[in-house]
Amino acid sequence: MIRFDIITIFPNLFDGFLNESLLAKAQKKKLLKIEIHNLRDFTADKHKKVDDKLFGGGLGMVMKVEPIYRAVQALKKSPASLKLRRTSKTILFTPRGKKFTQKMAYEFSKFDQLIFICGRYEGVDERVAKNIADYKISIGDYVLMGGEIPAMAVIEIVSRLIPGVIGKPEFLKERSIRKAFVEYPQYTRPEMFKDWKVPKVLLSGDHKKIEEWRKKHGKVIEK
Ligand code: SAH
Repeated sequence: MIRFDIITIFPNLFDGFLNESLLAKAQKKKLLKIEIHNLRDFTADKHKKVDDKLFGGGLGMVMKVEPIYRAVQALKKSPASLKLRRTSKTILFTPRGKKFTQKMAYEFSKFDQLIFICGRYEGVDERVAKNIADYKISIGDYVLMGGEIPAMAVIEIVSRLIPGVIGKPEFLKERSIRKAFVEYPQYTRPEMFKDWKVPKVLLSGDHKKIEEWRKKHGKVIEK
């Protein structure tokens, strides 16, 4: 069972995400576990300060290294994860990171614990990237307001690779024989809506032709 531990200053952002989806079912079936942790719980001062001004000057605030260090240490040692933990990896979300791919998702799906650090404000003290995170991940060449949506994206991408989380395990098996996953255009009933038709070949029953058509129009996502 994979355990995802999310470190964030906005834990409530995850409420709907966790309760409304297949992820809630997957957790009930004990296929995975997702725990949200408030970074402020790992501060040592009475103001629960998680950010501070930039050294060298500049606008905005940067997230401090100490609370993040304490959170990661605690989560690696927490009793539940200790029992499971054979491989525990810490991931920092940053627009400067390596771009996340399906291939990396397969790699991640084999770990026992993934600790996600969600940045906010102007970002995170660089010592987190240098000394704490095993992976620095970007979800694309654009800048979001925080690492929470990247964390949700990676949770979905990795979770659907765990047998039993989406559909029947056979689905996954069928896909995993192939070297790459092919996403092709898909249609369902009705055959005609307004004057928008379903491509004839898909109604032909000719499996070889259908397979060729799908290959031609599909996009290959490397594993
Ligand atoms: N310093 C930046 C803003 C930081 S965005 C600027 O120049 O405007 C704040 C946080 O959002 C980051 O620390 C990171 O955790 C997250 N984030 C933003 N864009 C991201 C992306 N493309 N991939 C992953 N995380 C991202």
